[in-house]
Amino acid sequence: MNAKYKYTKVGIPRAISYYNNYPFYFGFFQSLGIEVVLSDKTTTKTINAGCKQVVSDTCLPIKVYAGHIINLLEKGCKAIFVPSIQSTGYKINNCSKIRGLPEIIRNVISADFVMIEPTLDKTEKIGLKDFCIETANLLGITDKKAVKTAMKAGWKMYNNFYEMAKSGIPYQTALTNALEGKSVKKPVDIVKPLSIVIVGHGYNLFDERISLNLINKLEKLDVKVYTSLDVYPKEAQKSIKALGEVQYWANEVELTGVAAYYLLKNKIDGIIALSAFGCGPDSLMVDEIAYHCKEKDVPIMHLTIDEHTGEAGFITRIEAFVDMLVRKKRMIIGKNIKMPVKHPAEVIKIEKDKVCVGKAV
Ligand code: SF4
Repeated sequence: MNAKYKYTKVGIPRAISYYNNYPFYFGFFQSLGIEVVLSDKTTTKTINAGCKQVVSDTCLPIKVYAGHIINLLEKGCKAIFVPSIQSTGYKINNCSKIRGLPEIIRNVISADFVMIEPTLDKTEKIGLKDFCIETANLLGITDKKAVKTAMKAGWKMYNNFYEMAKSGIPYQTALTNALEGKSVKKPVDIVKPLSIVIVGHGYNLFDERISLNLINKLEKLDVKVYTSLDVYPKEAQKSIKALGEVQYWANEVELTGVAAYYLLKNKIDGIIALSAFGCGPDSLMVDEIAYHCKEKDVPIMHLTIDEHTGEAGFITRIEAFVDMLVRKKRMIIGKNIKMPVKHPAEVIKIEKDKVCVGKAV
C-alpha cells in the first residue's frame, strides 16, 4: 500500500504545535502507514542554526522551529509537516507567526524539500476533518476511510496522553507511554510546602532547553508545580469568562485560562509567567494576569526568555521568588495561629526561621 504514496516518511519538527498535538499526529501518521521522523531535542546548536535563518527580532520559539527544520533536513527528510493553524475556534486566533509558519519557513530556508502544510481554520469552517484529509492528500492518500480510521487512532493516543498528564504524570513520561500505547497510574500525591502554577505556551514550558528546565528546578526547591496539563481546556475557558475576560488568542487557555482557574480556586501561593521576548500576545495576557493577581494578592513573577538567557540569572530569580513566597506564607501562618483556650499547656514557639505549635517545656 505504501508504494502508492508520494511520501512514506514525514519529518515533524519538535517545536510549536508538537508540544500539544504530537500524540495525535503520531497516531494519525502511524495508522496511515507513514513513518514519522522526529527532530532531535532542542540544543544550543538548534537555537544557533535557527537564529542564522530568521531576523533577530523574531521570537525564540520561531527561531527554534527553523532550527528543527534544519535538523530534519540533515536527517535526510524530503517531506516535512508544517501545519498552518490559523484559528482553533470561531474567532479564536493564533498569532501571525504561527498562522504564517509555512510562509516563514518557505522564505527563510531554501532547500530541496516539500512542506506538508494543511490548514486548520475554524473561523472559516475548516475543521480537523478537513485538516486531516488535506494532510493525507498531500502525502498522496485519497482513501477517506483510511483517513477516518487514522483520525480515531490519533484521538485515542491524544486522549490517553492527556488523561495521564492530567492525573499528575510528568509530561515526558506521559508522552513516552502514550506513544507506546501504554497507560501508567497516577503517583501518590505528595503535599509540598508551596504550590506554584507556571503559565506559558507548551512549546516554551515543555522544551527543556527553552525553559531551562524550569519545572525541574522548582521541584528541586520542594515546590508543587501546576501547568496547563493539569487543567481541562474547557475548565480554563470557563475560568477566563468567570474572571470577566474574553478569549481571543488560541493559546490563551495556557496562560490566562490556567492562571484564572487557579486564582479562582484560591489554591496556589504564586504564579510564574514564562514568555518569549518580543511576543505580542503574551505581553497582553501577562498584563491581564498580573492585574488579577494583584486583586487576589497572589505574587507573580514574569520570566522572559530569548536565545541569550543565561541559566545563572534564571536560577537566582527563581530562588528569590520561592524565598519570598516562603516568607509570605510564614507570616500568614503566624497571623492565623490562635492561642489555644482549652489546652493552656500548648504554646506557640517562634524560632528563628520557623513557626510551629508545640508543648511548653
Ligand atoms: S505566540 Fe508569541 S511566542 Fe508564540 S509564536 Fe507567536 S509571537 Fe512567538
